Amino acid sequence: MVFVADTSAILSGKDISGLEAYTTPSVLNEIKIGRRSRLLGYMLDANLRIQSPSAQAIDTVRKKIDEMGENASEVDVEVLALALDLGATLLADDYSMQNLASALSISFKPISQKGIKKIRNYRYRCSGCGRFVKSGGECPFCGSPVKRFRL
Ligand SMILES: [Zn+2]
Repeated sequence: MVFVADTSAILSGKDISGLEAYTTPSVLNEIKIGRRSRLLGYMLDANLRIQSPSAQAIDTVRKKIDEMGENASEVDVEVLALALDLGATLLADDYSMQNLASALSISFKPISQKGIKKIRNYRYRCSGCGRFVKSGGECPFCGSPVKRFRL
């Protein structure tokens, strides 16, 4: 089974390494913006394939969206179009994406329910002086053990 992951699917951090999963260059660009770029390493680990949809599929998706009076970003349009091109199952949590997928006869699967491997954010704080530090081990200020906690 082939899957197409939208931005929310990738940001969920779910382990998709066992899947034949694709996404579009526009999703990649969206994720590159800001602090989420560390997810790119995760995406590469997951063997995510990057492919652009055909102009024809984009056209089909746009027409359907207009017909339904829905709002969708360019990125959404491309993701849906790629799923059409590949006959893939869409991995998306977004309700409107799922809605559009049904309208286009694209099968979809929500990703936030089971087997989630979250990308966790940790911070480190010294147990002695209470300063926030960059990494675990000993505090560079006072030498006390540093504790890690999740945000
Ligand atoms: Zn300290």
